[in-house]
Amino acid sequence: MTVQIPNPLSHAYLITGGGADSRAALVKRLTAAYLCQGERPPCGRCRACRKVESGAHPDVSRTAPPPDKQEITVDQIRALRADAYVRPNEGRRKVYVIDPADAMNPAAQNALLKVLEEGPAYAAFLLAADRPGKLLDTVRSRCELLSLPPDEDPPDRSLAERAASLAELLLGGDELACAQTMVELELSKPKAEELSALLAQVERQVSRQLARHPQRGAQVLRALKAARENAVYRPGTGHTLGLLITRLF
Ligand SMILES: [Zn+2]
Repeated sequence: MTVQIPNPLSHAYLITGGGADSRAALVKRLTAAYLCQGERPPCGRCRACRKVESGAHPDVSRTAPPPDKQEITVDQIRALRADAYVRPNEGRRKVYVIDPADAMNPAAQNALLKVLEEGPAYAAFLLAADRPGKLLDTVRSRCELLSLPPDEDPPDRSLAERAASLAELLLGGDELACAQTMVELELSKPKAEELSALLAQVERQVSRQLARHPQRGAQVLRALKAARENAVYRPGTGHTLGLLITRLF
């Protein structure tokens, strides 16, 4: 599924969901969109887009844990911050990719805050994270969220089956049956990650059936997306399910 590139672009995005590959692909398209010299960014054809594609654009910098380490350190972020105050080499903007952003330790995240908040206008930040819950609220709240649907069917068959029956139920639109199922789901006390994996799968199943249920399907998808985004910020499962049920009807 392709995510639409926002227009106008915000100065910072938190990219979550999907798999590492689809996050990386979206990061690349966004990077190209910031630097593109064509009319409809990212055009994919101009010099800047081609340089981004080949990884050769001098105004793109990537931060990841050092080869033998798990964490992105405060020194790495201080270096990024110093670099951000040097004007772009050839583009209009400078793009800082932090992937995986959830590898930043708290000191590194705090160091990032200031430049995220009041860095130069040309600086753009793309934070890709598998576990956005590891990021400080203060960092998350300064980024716009782009949440990707999951890449593939889960290897876990029971999850796929539960998702399929839940999708049927939500599309069926029986309010009482939906509410009962949500209560049962909440009582089963799923972990936040389990719940968001399940909801993401349901979303996938529903989008496959959009042709059969265009109106109801679109409503269910909006509700699921809102619930999934809520789960990123507020990991309480009761709150997420409550939100889902109010958006469904
Ligand atoms: Zn271009």
